[in-house]
Amino acid sequence: TRERSLNFIEEIIEEDLANGMNRESLRFRFPPEPNGYLHVGHASSICLNFGLGLRYNAPVNLRFDDTNPAKEEQEYVDAIKKDVEWLGYQWAEERYASDYFQQLYDWAVELIKKGLAYVDSQSSEEMAKQKGTPSQPGSESPYRNRSVEENLELFEQMKNGEFPEGTHVLRAKINMASSNMLMRDPIMYRILHKQHHRTGNDWKIYPMYDWAHGESDYVESISHSLCTLEFLMHRELYDWFLDQIHDNNSIRPKQREFARRNLSHTVVSKRKLLQLVQEGHVTGWDDPRMSTISGMRRRGYTPMAIRNFADTIGIAKRTNLVDVSVLEFCVREDLNKTAPRVMGVLDPVKLVITNYPEGQEEWLDAENNPEDESAGFRKVPFSRELYIEREDFMEEANRKYFRLTLGKEVRLKNAYIIKGESVVKDADGNITEIHCTYDTDSRSGSGTEASLRKIKGTIHWVSIQHALEAEIRIYDRLFTHENPDGDKEIDFKSYLNPNSLEVIKGYLEPSLSEAKDGDRFQFQRLGYFCVDRDSTAEKIVFNKTVGLRDTWAK
Ligand code: ATP
Ligand code: MG
Ligand code: MG
Repeated sequence: TRERSLNFIEEIIEEDLANGMNRESLRFRFPPEPNGYLHVGHASSICLNFGLGLRYNAPVNLRFDDTNPAKEEQEYVDAIKKDVEWLGYQWAEERYASDYFQQLYDWAVELIKKGLAYVDSQSSEEMAKQKGTPSQPGSESPYRNRSVEENLELFEQMKNGEFPEGTHVLRAKINMASSNMLMRDPIMYRILHKQHHRTGNDWKIYPMYDWAHGESDYVESISHSLCTLEFLMHRELYDWFLDQIHDNNSIRPKQREFARRNLSHTVVSKRKLLQLVQEGHVTGWDDPRMSTISGMRRRGYTPMAIRNFADTIGIAKRTNLVDVSVLEFCVREDLNKTAPRVMGVLDPVKLVITNYPEGQEEWLDAENNPEDESAGFRKVPFSRELYIEREDFMEEANRKYFRLTLGKEVRLKNAYIIKGESVVKDADGNITEIHCTYDTDSRSGSGTEASLRKIKGTIHWVSIQHALEAEIRIYDRLFTHENPDGDKEIDFKSYLNPNSLEVIKGYLEPSLSEAKDGDRFQFQRLGYFCVDRDSTAEKIVFNKTVGLRDTWAK
Protein backbone atom coordinates (compact mmCIF):
# COMPACT_ATOMS: atom_id res chain seq x y z
CA THR A 1 0.00 0.00 0.00
CA ARG A 2 0.98 3.58 -0.55
CA GLU A 3 2.50 5.86 2.07
CA ARG A 4 -0.04 8.03 3.78
CA SER A 5 -0.58 9.85 7.04
CA LEU A 6 -2.38 8.22 9.95
CA ASN A 7 -6.15 8.08 9.78
CA PHE A 8 -8.13 9.16 12.82
CA ILE A 9 -8.67 5.60 14.03
CA GLU A 10 -4.91 4.99 13.91
CA GLU A 11 -4.44 8.23 15.83
CA ILE A 12 -6.78 6.94 18.54
CA ILE A 13 -4.79 3.71 18.72
CA GLU A 14 -1.46 5.56 18.83
CA GLU A 15 -2.79 7.65 21.67
CA ASP A 16 -3.91 4.54 23.56
CA LEU A 17 -0.45 3.07 23.10
CA ALA A 18 1.16 6.31 24.26
CA ASN A 19 -1.08 6.16 27.34
CA GLY A 20 0.30 2.80 28.29
CA MET A 21 -1.82 0.32 26.42
CA ASN A 22 0.12 -2.82 25.63
CA ARG A 23 0.75 -3.41 21.93
CA GLU A 24 0.09 -7.11 22.45
CA SER A 25 -3.45 -6.32 23.57
CA LEU A 26 -4.46 -4.84 20.24
CA ARG A 27 -7.12 -6.97 18.64
CA PHE A 28 -9.75 -6.20 16.02
CA ARG A 29 -12.70 -7.84 14.38
CA PHE A 30 -14.82 -7.59 11.26
CA PRO A 31 -18.43 -8.34 12.30
CA PRO A 32 -20.80 -8.99 9.39
CA GLU A 33 -24.35 -10.10 9.88
CA PRO A 34 -24.81 -13.14 7.59
CA ASN A 35 -28.02 -11.78 6.08
CA GLY A 36 -26.69 -11.11 2.59
CA TYR A 37 -23.55 -10.88 0.49
CA LEU A 38 -20.86 -8.34 1.29
CA HIS A 39 -20.74 -5.15 -0.75
CA VAL A 40 -18.16 -2.49 -1.52
CA GLY A 41 -18.98 -0.67 1.74
CA HIS A 42 -18.07 -3.80 3.67
CA ALA A 43 -14.86 -3.96 1.66
CA SER A 44 -13.91 -0.61 3.21
CA SER A 45 -14.58 -1.95 6.67
CA ILE A 46 -12.65 -5.16 5.94
CA CYS A 47 -9.68 -3.18 4.65
CA LEU A 48 -9.83 -0.91 7.69
CA ASN A 49 -9.93 -3.70 10.28
CA PHE A 50 -7.57 -6.12 8.57
CA GLY A 51 -5.36 -3.21 7.57
CA LEU A 52 -5.01 -2.33 11.26
CA GLY A 53 -4.21 -5.96 11.95
CA LEU A 54 -1.36 -5.84 9.44
CA ARG A 55 -0.10 -2.44 10.59
CA TYR A 56 0.00 -3.44 14.27
CA ASN A 57 0.66 -7.11 13.75
CA ALA A 58 -2.50 -7.80 15.71
CA PRO A 59 -5.10 -10.56 15.33
CA VAL A 60 -8.36 -9.81 13.53
CA ASN A 61 -11.36 -12.05 14.10
CA LEU A 62 -14.08 -12.72 11.58
CA ARG A 63 -17.16 -12.56 13.74
CA PHE A 64 -20.56 -13.42 12.42
CA ASP A 65 -23.12 -11.25 14.12
CA ASP A 66 -25.80 -13.90 13.92
CA THR A 67 -28.38 -12.88 16.47
CA ASN A 68 -31.38 -12.61 14.16
CA PRO A 69 -32.37 -16.10 12.95
CA ALA A 70 -35.14 -14.72 10.76
CA LYS A 71 -32.72 -13.34 8.17
CA GLU A 72 -29.51 -15.29 8.50
CA GLU A 73 -28.36 -18.25 6.48
CA GLN A 74 -25.37 -20.55 6.04
CA GLU A 75 -25.16 -19.57 2.35
CA TYR A 76 -24.28 -16.04 3.44
CA VAL A 77 -21.69 -17.24 5.96
CA ASP A 78 -19.93 -19.18 3.20
CA ALA A 79 -20.09 -16.28 0.75
CA ILE A 80 -18.69 -13.85 3.32
CA LYS A 81 -15.73 -16.12 4.11
CA LYS A 82 -14.98 -16.53 0.44
CA ASP A 83 -15.06 -12.76 -0.13
CA VAL A 84 -12.79 -11.87 2.78
CA GLU A 85 -10.28 -14.50 1.68
CA TRP A 86 -10.47 -13.36 -1.91
CA LEU A 87 -9.60 -9.82 -0.82
CA GLY A 88 -6.44 -11.40 0.55
CA TYR A 89 -7.00 -11.27 4.29
CA GLN A 90 -6.64 -13.97 6.92
CA TRP A 91 -8.67 -13.89 10.07
CA ALA A 92 -7.19 -15.08 13.34
CA GLU A 93 -10.37 -16.84 14.46
CA GLU A 94 -13.77 -17.49 13.00
CA ARG A 95 -16.30 -16.59 15.68
CA TYR A 96 -20.05 -16.38 15.99
CA ALA A 97 -22.12 -14.24 18.32
CA SER A 98 -24.30 -17.35 18.63
CA ASP A 99 -21.34 -19.09 20.33
CA TYR A 100 -21.97 -16.71 23.22
CA PHE A 101 -25.71 -17.23 23.63
CA GLN A 102 -25.25 -19.14 26.89
CA GLN A 103 -22.75 -16.64 28.28
CA LEU A 104 -25.02 -13.75 27.34
CA TYR A 105 -27.92 -15.48 29.02
CA ASP A 106 -25.90 -16.00 32.19
CA TRP A 107 -24.88 -12.35 32.24
CA ALA A 108 -28.51 -11.32 31.72
CA VAL A 109 -29.47 -13.40 34.74
CA GLU A 110 -26.81 -11.56 36.73
CA LEU A 111 -28.24 -8.24 35.64
CA ILE A 112 -31.69 -9.33 36.78
CA LYS A 113 -30.24 -10.33 40.14
CA LYS A 114 -28.63 -6.92 40.48
CA GLY A 115 -31.97 -5.27 39.74
CA LEU A 116 -30.66 -3.97 36.41
CA ALA A 117 -33.01 -5.85 34.09
CA TYR A 118 -36.69 -6.79 34.13
CA VAL A 119 -39.26 -8.66 32.12
CA ASP A 120 -41.76 -6.36 30.47
CA SER A 121 -45.04 -7.97 29.46
CA GLN A 122 -46.51 -5.13 27.47
CA SER A 123 -47.08 -5.09 23.75
CA SER A 124 -44.50 -3.33 21.61
CA GLU A 125 -47.10 -0.61 20.84
CA GLU A 126 -47.55 0.12 24.53
CA MET A 127 -43.83 0.28 25.09
CA ALA A 128 -43.40 2.59 22.11
CA LYS A 129 -45.97 4.97 23.57
CA GLN A 130 -44.00 5.20 26.80
CA LYS A 131 -40.69 5.93 25.09
CA GLY A 132 -41.29 9.68 25.06
CA THR A 133 -39.49 11.99 22.65
CA PRO A 134 -35.95 13.35 22.68
CA SER A 135 -37.22 16.46 24.45
CA GLN A 136 -39.69 14.64 26.70
CA PRO A 137 -38.87 11.93 29.20
CA GLY A 138 -40.53 8.57 28.75
CA SER A 139 -42.76 6.96 31.32
CA GLU A 140 -41.97 3.83 33.25
CA SER A 141 -43.48 0.47 32.45
CA PRO A 142 -45.94 -0.90 35.02
CA TYR A 143 -43.70 -4.01 35.08
CA ARG A 144 -40.54 -2.09 35.83
CA ASN A 145 -40.55 -2.91 39.50
CA ARG A 146 -41.24 -6.61 39.32
CA SER A 147 -39.38 -8.57 41.98
CA VAL A 148 -36.09 -10.22 41.14
CA GLU A 149 -37.67 -13.64 41.78
CA GLU A 150 -40.56 -13.00 39.42
CA ASN A 151 -38.18 -11.67 36.74
CA LEU A 152 -35.91 -14.69 37.06
CA GLU A 153 -38.82 -17.05 36.78
CA LEU A 154 -40.36 -15.30 33.78
CA PHE A 155 -37.04 -15.01 32.00
CA GLU A 156 -36.42 -18.70 32.41
CA GLN A 157 -39.88 -19.46 31.07
CA MET A 158 -39.18 -17.20 28.10
CA LYS A 159 -36.00 -19.15 27.46
CA ASN A 160 -37.83 -22.46 27.73
CA GLY A 161 -40.28 -21.47 25.03
CA GLU A 162 -43.30 -21.29 27.32
CA PHE A 163 -44.57 -18.02 25.83
CA PRO A 164 -45.60 -17.03 22.35
CA GLU A 165 -43.59 -14.44 20.41
CA GLY A 166 -44.30 -10.84 21.35
CA THR A 167 -45.64 -11.52 24.83
CA HIS A 168 -42.59 -10.59 26.92
CA VAL A 169 -39.20 -8.98 26.52
CA LEU A 170 -36.25 -8.53 28.82
CA ARG A 171 -35.31 -4.88 29.27
CA ALA A 172 -32.33 -3.23 30.87
CA LYS A 173 -33.39 -0.98 33.72
CA ILE A 174 -31.51 2.21 33.00
CA ASN A 175 -33.24 5.57 32.77
CA MET A 176 -36.57 6.43 31.13
CA ALA A 177 -35.64 10.12 31.29
CA SER A 178 -32.23 9.84 29.62
CA SER A 179 -31.57 12.37 26.89
CA ASN A 180 -30.32 9.42 24.85
CA MET A 181 -33.45 7.55 23.78
CA LEU A 182 -31.44 4.33 23.50
CA MET A 183 -30.85 4.42 27.26
CA ARG A 184 -34.58 4.39 28.03
CA ASP A 185 -34.74 0.79 29.19
CA PRO A 186 -33.60 -0.83 25.94
CA ILE A 187 -34.72 -4.33 25.04
CA MET A 188 -32.10 -7.02 25.62
CA TYR A 189 -34.04 -10.13 24.56
CA ARG A 190 -37.09 -10.94 22.51
CA ILE A 191 -38.91 -14.23 22.08
CA LEU A 192 -38.47 -15.79 18.65
CA HIS A 193 -39.58 -19.32 17.84
CA LYS A 194 -37.30 -19.47 14.83
CA GLN A 195 -34.70 -21.95 13.79
CA HIS A 196 -31.18 -20.58 13.89
CA HIS A 197 -28.68 -21.64 11.21
CA ARG A 198 -26.23 -22.77 13.89
CA THR A 199 -28.07 -23.30 17.16
CA GLY A 200 -31.13 -24.87 15.57
CA ASN A 201 -34.07 -24.84 17.97
CA ASP A 202 -32.02 -24.57 21.16
CA TRP A 203 -33.06 -21.00 21.79
CA LYS A 204 -36.50 -19.41 21.97
CA ILE A 205 -35.09 -16.03 22.96
CA TYR A 206 -32.50 -14.07 21.03
CA PRO A 207 -30.33 -11.16 22.21
CA MET A 208 -30.62 -7.75 20.60
CA TYR A 209 -27.64 -6.24 18.77
CA ASP A 210 -26.79 -3.81 21.57
CA TRP A 211 -26.70 -6.53 24.16
CA ALA A 212 -24.74 -8.97 22.03
CA HIS A 213 -22.20 -6.83 20.25
CA GLY A 214 -20.12 -5.26 22.99
CA GLU A 215 -20.30 -8.45 25.02
CA SER A 216 -19.00 -10.45 22.06
CA ASP A 217 -16.18 -7.92 21.75
CA TYR A 218 -15.51 -8.43 25.43
CA VAL A 219 -15.43 -12.22 25.19
CA GLU A 220 -12.94 -11.96 22.33
CA SER A 221 -10.84 -9.25 24.03
CA ILE A 222 -11.29 -6.91 21.12
CA SER A 223 -9.43 -3.70 21.96
CA HIS A 224 -11.00 -1.45 19.35
CA SER A 225 -14.47 -2.17 18.05
CA LEU A 226 -14.97 -0.12 14.93
CA CYS A 227 -18.41 0.47 13.55
CA THR A 228 -20.23 2.93 11.33
CA LEU A 229 -21.55 6.27 12.48
CA GLU A 230 -25.16 5.27 12.98
CA PHE A 231 -23.92 3.54 16.14
CA LEU A 232 -22.56 6.73 17.69
CA MET A 233 -25.56 7.08 20.00
CA HIS A 234 -25.29 3.37 20.86
CA ARG A 235 -21.86 3.91 22.36
CA GLU A 236 -23.31 5.02 25.71
CA LEU A 237 -25.31 1.80 25.89
CA TYR A 238 -22.33 -0.27 24.70
CA ASP A 239 -20.38 1.19 27.63
CA TRP A 240 -23.22 0.77 30.11
CA PHE A 241 -23.53 -2.93 29.35
CA LEU A 242 -19.77 -3.38 29.64
CA ASP A 243 -19.82 -1.57 32.99
CA GLN A 244 -22.15 -4.26 34.32
CA ILE A 245 -20.10 -7.27 33.29
CA HIS A 246 -16.52 -6.01 33.11
CA ASP A 247 -13.96 -7.22 35.60
CA ASN A 248 -10.86 -5.12 35.99
CA ASN A 249 -8.45 -7.77 34.74
CA SER A 250 -9.86 -7.91 31.24
CA ILE A 251 -9.44 -5.79 28.18
CA ARG A 252 -12.17 -3.23 27.98
CA PRO A 253 -13.27 -2.88 24.33
CA LYS A 254 -13.68 0.59 22.97
CA GLN A 255 -16.28 1.39 20.34
CA ARG A 256 -15.27 4.00 17.80
CA GLU A 257 -17.21 5.13 14.76
CA PHE A 258 -16.32 5.97 11.19
CA ALA A 259 -18.48 7.11 8.28
CA ARG A 260 -20.21 4.67 5.97
CA ARG A 261 -18.79 4.62 2.49
CA ASN A 262 -21.41 5.03 -0.18
CA LEU A 263 -20.67 4.64 -3.85
CA SER A 264 -22.36 6.60 -6.61
CA HIS A 265 -24.78 5.02 -9.10
CA THR A 266 -25.39 1.99 -6.90
CA VAL A 267 -26.82 0.99 -3.55
CA VAL A 268 -24.75 -0.36 -0.67
CA SER A 269 -27.30 -2.01 1.57
CA LYS A 270 -27.77 -5.74 1.82
CA ARG A 271 -31.50 -5.29 2.19
CA LYS A 272 -31.76 -3.33 -1.05
CA LEU A 273 -29.36 -5.60 -2.91
CA LEU A 274 -31.50 -8.54 -1.79
CA GLN A 275 -34.55 -6.84 -3.29
CA LEU A 276 -32.76 -6.51 -6.62
CA VAL A 277 -31.99 -10.22 -6.53
CA GLN A 278 -35.41 -11.37 -5.37
CA GLU A 279 -37.30 -9.21 -7.84
CA GLY A 280 -35.12 -10.31 -10.74
CA HIS A 281 -33.64 -6.93 -11.63
CA VAL A 282 -30.25 -8.67 -11.67
CA THR A 283 -29.30 -12.29 -12.24
CA GLY A 284 -28.06 -12.88 -8.68
CA TRP A 285 -25.86 -11.56 -5.89
CA ASP A 286 -22.83 -11.91 -8.16
CA ASP A 287 -24.33 -10.14 -11.15
CA PRO A 288 -21.42 -8.09 -12.52
CA ARG A 289 -23.48 -4.92 -12.17
CA MET A 290 -23.92 -5.40 -8.42
CA SER A 291 -21.89 -3.50 -5.82
CA THR A 292 -21.24 -6.80 -4.05
CA ILE A 293 -17.71 -8.12 -3.69
CA SER A 294 -18.84 -11.24 -5.59
CA GLY A 295 -20.29 -9.05 -8.34
CA MET A 296 -17.09 -7.04 -8.60
CA ARG A 297 -15.06 -10.26 -8.72
CA ARG A 298 -17.19 -11.60 -11.55
CA ARG A 299 -16.92 -8.26 -13.32
CA GLY A 300 -13.13 -8.66 -13.32
CA TYR A 301 -12.16 -6.26 -10.55
CA THR A 302 -9.03 -7.37 -8.70
CA PRO A 303 -8.56 -7.68 -4.93
CA MET A 304 -5.67 -5.24 -5.20
CA ALA A 305 -7.83 -2.68 -6.99
CA ILE A 306 -10.47 -2.86 -4.28
CA ARG A 307 -7.87 -2.60 -1.54
CA ASN A 308 -6.27 0.37 -3.25
CA PHE A 309 -9.68 1.94 -3.59
CA ALA A 310 -10.36 1.55 0.13
CA ASP A 311 -6.97 3.04 0.84
CA THR A 312 -7.48 5.92 -1.59
CA ILE A 313 -10.82 7.02 -0.13
CA GLY A 314 -9.54 6.37 3.38
CA ILE A 315 -11.89 6.65 6.31
CA ALA A 316 -13.83 9.70 7.36
CA LYS A 317 -15.99 11.07 10.14
CA ARG A 318 -18.61 12.39 7.76
CA THR A 319 -20.67 10.32 5.34
CA ASN A 320 -20.26 11.20 1.71
CA LEU A 321 -20.82 9.73 -1.69
CA VAL A 322 -17.70 8.47 -3.44
CA ASP A 323 -17.90 8.63 -7.21
CA VAL A 324 -17.70 5.21 -8.85
CA SER A 325 -15.06 6.65 -11.22
CA VAL A 326 -12.59 6.54 -8.30
CA LEU A 327 -13.12 2.79 -8.04
CA GLU A 328 -12.86 2.39 -11.80
CA PHE A 329 -9.60 4.33 -11.79
CA CYS A 330 -8.15 1.88 -9.25
CA VAL A 331 -9.35 -1.09 -11.32
CA ARG A 332 -7.79 0.29 -14.48
CA GLU A 333 -4.56 1.15 -12.72
CA ASP A 334 -4.13 -2.41 -11.44
CA LEU A 335 -5.25 -4.16 -14.61
CA ASN A 336 -2.92 -2.01 -16.67
CA LYS A 337 -0.04 -3.59 -14.77
CA THR A 338 -1.29 -7.14 -14.76
CA ALA A 339 -3.67 -7.87 -17.63
CA PRO A 340 -2.23 -9.49 -20.79
CA ARG A 341 -2.97 -7.61 -24.00
CA VAL A 342 -4.96 -9.29 -26.73
CA MET A 343 -6.83 -8.23 -29.84
CA GLY A 344 -10.54 -8.50 -30.38
CA VAL A 345 -13.02 -6.72 -32.61
CA LEU A 346 -16.46 -5.97 -31.23
CA ASP A 347 -18.08 -4.05 -34.07
CA PRO A 348 -16.57 -5.71 -37.14
CA VAL A 349 -16.23 -4.64 -40.73
CA LYS A 350 -14.39 -6.83 -43.21
CA LEU A 351 -11.00 -5.72 -44.49
CA VAL A 352 -9.45 -7.42 -47.56
CA ILE A 353 -5.75 -7.00 -48.28
CA THR A 354 -5.85 -7.35 -52.05
CA ASN A 355 -2.10 -7.88 -52.58
CA TYR A 356 -1.79 -10.52 -49.83
CA PRO A 357 -1.82 -14.02 -51.37
CA GLU A 358 -5.03 -15.96 -50.98
CA GLY A 359 -4.73 -19.02 -48.76
CA GLN A 360 -1.57 -17.72 -47.08
CA GLU A 361 -1.28 -17.18 -43.35
CA GLU A 362 1.51 -16.22 -41.02
CA TRP A 363 1.82 -16.17 -37.26
CA LEU A 364 3.16 -12.89 -35.96
CA ASP A 365 4.76 -12.05 -32.63
CA ALA A 366 2.68 -9.97 -30.27
CA GLU A 367 3.86 -8.54 -26.96
CA ASN A 368 1.76 -9.72 -24.02
CA ASN A 369 2.23 -6.74 -21.76
CA PRO A 370 4.38 -3.67 -22.41
CA GLU A 371 4.15 -2.91 -18.65
CA ASP A 372 5.66 -6.27 -17.75
CA GLU A 373 8.73 -7.54 -19.65
CA SER A 374 8.45 -10.98 -18.10
CA ALA A 375 5.04 -11.48 -19.74
CA GLY A 376 6.75 -12.34 -23.04
CA PHE A 377 5.23 -12.77 -26.49
CA ARG A 378 2.54 -14.85 -28.17
CA LYS A 379 1.67 -15.63 -31.79
CA VAL A 380 -1.31 -14.13 -33.60
CA PRO A 381 -2.45 -15.33 -37.02
CA PHE A 382 -2.56 -12.94 -39.96
CA SER A 383 -4.24 -13.53 -43.30
CA ARG A 384 -5.79 -11.82 -46.30
CA GLU A 385 -9.19 -11.18 -44.70
CA LEU A 386 -9.45 -9.41 -41.39
CA TYR A 387 -12.00 -7.73 -39.19
CA ILE A 388 -11.35 -4.23 -37.95
CA GLU A 389 -13.65 -1.98 -35.92
CA ARG A 390 -16.19 -0.16 -38.04
CA GLU A 391 -15.24 2.93 -36.08
CA ASP A 392 -11.64 2.69 -37.30
CA PHE A 393 -12.52 3.49 -40.91
CA MET A 394 -13.86 6.61 -42.58
CA GLU A 395 -14.20 7.01 -46.31
CA GLU A 396 -13.38 10.66 -46.14
CA ALA A 397 -11.67 12.15 -43.17
CA ASN A 398 -9.95 15.34 -42.17
CA ARG A 399 -6.24 15.59 -41.40
CA LYS A 400 -6.77 14.92 -37.68
CA TYR A 401 -8.17 11.44 -38.35
CA PHE A 402 -5.35 8.95 -37.82
CA ARG A 403 -7.24 5.76 -38.40
CA LEU A 404 -7.91 4.11 -41.74
CA THR A 405 -9.21 6.14 -44.64
CA LEU A 406 -8.92 5.94 -48.40
CA GLY A 407 -5.53 6.84 -49.79
CA LYS A 408 -3.78 6.99 -46.42
CA GLU A 409 -1.68 4.60 -44.39
CA VAL A 410 -2.21 3.08 -41.00
CA ARG A 411 -0.40 0.36 -39.07
CA LEU A 412 -2.10 -2.89 -38.14
CA LYS A 413 -0.92 -3.63 -34.61
CA ASN A 414 1.84 -6.29 -34.57
CA ALA A 415 1.56 -6.60 -38.37
CA TYR A 416 1.93 -4.48 -41.51
CA ILE A 417 1.32 -0.98 -42.76
CA ILE A 418 -1.74 -0.88 -44.99
CA LYS A 419 -3.28 1.74 -47.26
CA GLY A 420 -7.02 2.15 -47.92
CA GLU A 421 -7.88 1.70 -51.58
CA SER A 422 -11.64 1.28 -52.08
CA VAL A 423 -14.88 0.16 -50.45
CA VAL A 424 -17.70 -2.21 -51.34
CA LYS A 425 -21.20 -1.14 -50.33
CA ASP A 426 -24.58 -2.82 -50.14
CA ALA A 427 -27.76 -1.48 -51.76
CA ASP A 428 -28.37 0.83 -48.77
CA GLY A 429 -24.93 2.37 -49.02
CA ASN A 430 -23.48 0.60 -45.98
CA ILE A 431 -19.86 -0.43 -46.25
CA THR A 432 -19.54 -4.22 -46.37
CA GLU A 433 -15.85 -4.49 -47.28
CA ILE A 434 -12.82 -2.27 -47.24
CA HIS A 435 -10.11 -3.06 -49.75
CA CYS A 436 -6.55 -2.12 -49.06
CA THR A 437 -2.98 -2.97 -49.99
CA TYR A 438 -0.13 -3.69 -47.63
CA ASP A 439 3.53 -2.74 -47.66
CA THR A 440 5.16 -6.15 -47.90
CA ASP A 441 8.35 -4.99 -46.16
CA SER A 442 6.72 -3.29 -43.20
CA ARG A 443 6.15 -6.16 -40.76
CA SER A 444 6.45 -4.94 -37.14
CA GLY A 445 9.66 -6.02 -35.50
CA SER A 446 11.31 -7.07 -38.77
CA GLY A 447 13.77 -4.20 -38.47
CA THR A 448 13.48 -3.22 -42.14
CA GLU A 449 13.47 0.40 -43.15
CA ALA A 450 9.82 0.09 -44.17
CA SER A 451 8.89 -1.36 -40.79
CA LEU A 452 10.42 1.63 -39.05
CA ARG A 453 8.49 4.22 -41.03
CA LYS A 454 6.61 6.62 -38.78
CA ILE A 455 2.88 6.09 -39.19
CA LYS A 456 0.48 8.15 -37.11
CA GLY A 457 -2.24 5.61 -36.50
CA THR A 458 -2.27 2.04 -35.25
CA ILE A 459 -5.43 -0.07 -35.25
CA HIS A 460 -6.23 -3.57 -33.99
CA TRP A 461 -7.66 -6.43 -36.01
CA VAL A 462 -8.35 -10.16 -36.08
CA SER A 463 -7.97 -12.67 -38.88
CA ILE A 464 -11.49 -13.72 -39.88
CA GLN A 465 -10.74 -17.36 -40.55
CA HIS A 466 -8.95 -17.77 -37.22
CA ALA A 467 -11.22 -15.62 -35.07
CA LEU A 468 -12.89 -16.97 -31.98
CA GLU A 469 -16.51 -15.95 -31.75
CA ALA A 470 -17.49 -14.83 -28.26
CA GLU A 471 -20.42 -13.42 -26.35
CA ILE A 472 -19.49 -10.08 -24.88
CA ARG A 473 -21.50 -8.56 -22.03
CA ILE A 474 -21.15 -4.84 -21.74
CA TYR A 475 -22.33 -3.15 -18.59
CA ASP A 476 -23.44 0.32 -17.81
CA ARG A 477 -24.24 1.71 -14.37
CA LEU A 478 -27.08 -0.12 -12.69
CA PHE A 479 -28.74 3.16 -11.72
CA THR A 480 -29.11 6.33 -13.71
CA HIS A 481 -29.10 8.49 -10.56
CA GLU A 482 -25.85 9.04 -8.70
CA ASN A 483 -27.56 8.56 -5.35
CA PRO A 484 -30.54 6.28 -6.02
CA ASP A 485 -31.42 5.75 -2.37
CA GLY A 486 -30.73 9.32 -1.31
CA ASP A 487 -34.39 10.30 -1.10
CA LYS A 488 -36.59 8.26 1.23
CA GLU A 489 -39.73 9.37 -0.63
CA ILE A 490 -38.56 7.85 -3.91
CA ASP A 491 -38.21 4.13 -4.56
CA PHE A 492 -34.56 3.55 -5.47
CA LYS A 493 -35.68 1.04 -8.10
CA SER A 494 -37.33 3.79 -10.11
CA TYR A 495 -33.76 4.82 -11.03
CA LEU A 496 -32.78 1.42 -12.42
CA ASN A 497 -31.01 1.84 -15.75
CA PRO A 498 -32.97 -0.16 -18.36
CA ASN A 499 -29.81 -0.30 -20.52
CA SER A 500 -27.36 -1.54 -17.94
CA LEU A 501 -26.61 -4.71 -19.92
CA GLU A 502 -25.85 -5.03 -23.63
CA VAL A 503 -24.93 -8.39 -25.13
CA ILE A 504 -22.99 -8.43 -28.39
CA LYS A 505 -20.97 -10.82 -30.48
CA GLY A 506 -17.23 -10.27 -30.66
CA TYR A 507 -14.37 -11.76 -32.70
CA LEU A 508 -11.24 -12.50 -30.75
CA GLU A 509 -7.74 -13.71 -31.51
CA PRO A 510 -7.62 -17.51 -31.14
CA SER A 511 -5.20 -17.52 -28.19
CA LEU A 512 -8.25 -16.72 -26.06
CA SER A 513 -9.71 -20.17 -26.59
CA GLU A 514 -7.35 -21.22 -23.77
CA ALA A 515 -8.74 -18.63 -21.34
CA LYS A 516 -10.27 -19.84 -18.07
CA ASP A 517 -13.12 -18.57 -15.92
CA GLY A 518 -12.03 -15.34 -14.25
CA ASP A 519 -9.00 -14.67 -16.50
CA ARG A 520 -8.59 -10.99 -17.20
CA PHE A 521 -7.32 -9.30 -20.38
CA GLN A 522 -6.93 -5.98 -21.99
CA PHE A 523 -8.62 -6.00 -25.36
CA GLN A 524 -6.32 -3.46 -26.90
CA ARG A 525 -7.87 -0.04 -27.47
CA LEU A 526 -11.22 -1.28 -26.09
CA GLY A 527 -10.89 -1.91 -22.40
CA TYR A 528 -10.50 -4.70 -19.86
CA PHE A 529 -12.50 -7.90 -20.11
CA CYS A 530 -12.69 -11.13 -18.15
CA VAL A 531 -14.01 -14.61 -18.80
CA ASP A 532 -17.43 -15.15 -17.26
CA ARG A 533 -18.38 -18.35 -15.48
CA ASP A 534 -21.23 -18.84 -17.98
CA SER A 535 -18.63 -19.82 -20.59
CA THR A 536 -18.95 -23.32 -22.05
CA ALA A 537 -16.82 -25.43 -24.37
CA GLU A 538 -18.97 -24.20 -27.28
CA LYS A 539 -19.16 -20.54 -26.37
CA ILE A 540 -16.84 -18.31 -24.41
CA VAL A 541 -18.44 -15.38 -22.59
CA PHE A 542 -16.60 -12.22 -21.62
CA ASN A 543 -17.62 -9.44 -19.24
CA LYS A 544 -16.43 -5.95 -19.91
CA THR A 545 -14.74 -4.88 -16.69
CA VAL A 546 -14.01 -1.26 -17.47
CA GLY A 547 -13.06 0.85 -20.47
CA LEU A 548 -9.63 2.27 -21.21
CA ARG A 549 -8.90 5.83 -20.53
CA ASP A 550 -6.23 6.00 -23.22
CA THR A 551 -5.48 4.37 -26.53
CA TRP A 552 -1.89 3.67 -27.51
CA ALA A 553 0.37 6.59 -27.04
CA LYS A 554 2.82 5.31 -29.67
P1 ATP B 1 -26.19 -3.35 5.42
O1 ATP B 1 -27.13 -2.24 5.64
O2 ATP B 1 -25.67 -3.40 4.04
O3 ATP B 1 -26.71 -4.67 5.89
P2 ATP B 1 -24.73 -3.37 7.84
O4 ATP B 1 -23.87 -2.32 8.47
O5 ATP B 1 -26.00 -3.70 8.51
O6 ATP B 1 -24.93 -2.98 6.33
P3 ATP B 1 -23.09 -5.55 8.69
O7 ATP B 1 -23.07 -6.93 8.17
O8 ATP B 1 -23.59 -5.32 10.05
O9 ATP B 1 -23.92 -4.69 7.64
O10 ATP B 1 -21.66 -4.87 8.50
C1 ATP B 1 -20.44 -5.41 8.95
C2 ATP B 1 -19.49 -4.28 9.14
O11 ATP B 1 -19.31 -3.54 7.94
C3 ATP B 1 -19.99 -3.31 10.18
O12 ATP B 1 -18.93 -2.94 11.02
C4 ATP B 1 -20.49 -2.16 9.37
O13 ATP B 1 -20.50 -0.98 10.08
C5 ATP B 1 -19.55 -2.18 8.16
N1 ATP B 1 -20.19 -1.55 7.00
C6 ATP B 1 -21.37 -1.87 6.46
N2 ATP B 1 -21.67 -1.07 5.43
C7 ATP B 1 -20.64 -0.20 5.32
C8 ATP B 1 -20.35 0.90 4.44
N3 ATP B 1 -21.20 1.27 3.50
N4 ATP B 1 -19.18 1.56 4.62
C9 ATP B 1 -18.32 1.18 5.57
N5 ATP B 1 -18.53 0.18 6.42
C10 ATP B 1 -19.68 -0.52 6.31
MG1 MG C 1 -25.18 -4.48 11.19
MG1 MG D 1 -27.92 -4.54 8.11
